[in-house]
Amino acid sequence: MKQFRIRKDDKVQVTVGKDKGKIGKVLKILKKKDAVLVEKVNVAKRHTKPNPYAKQQGGILDKEMPLHISNVKVVCDACNEATRIGYRHTEDGKKVRFCKKCNATMD
Ligand SMILES: [Zn+2]
Repeated sequence: MKQFRIRKDDKVQVTVGKDKGKIGKVLKILKKKDAVLVEKVNVAKRHTKPNPYAKQQGGILDKEMPLHISNVKVVCDACNEATRIGYRHTEDGKKVRFCKKCNATMD
């Protein structure tokens, strides 16, 4: 089974593309696409028409587009750096994530 090292609400940094270096919060994990939606990152402007039936006003909406998970890195809360995530077991047998840079437990 595939393992997702990134979770919702993680802080991630983009490593490629026009938003390279940007940091945002993970809004959603798209498991089937191996992708994540990151707040305010990879934003596309969407022009919407007014829809009187749905009482929607027309205008420009910002919409986050998915980023492939290989293009983002988790930012560690402890050392505040984009890092690689490892897994380890605690003494009571729980599996937790940890930062490979500073060794801090992340869960
Ligand atoms: Zn760290």
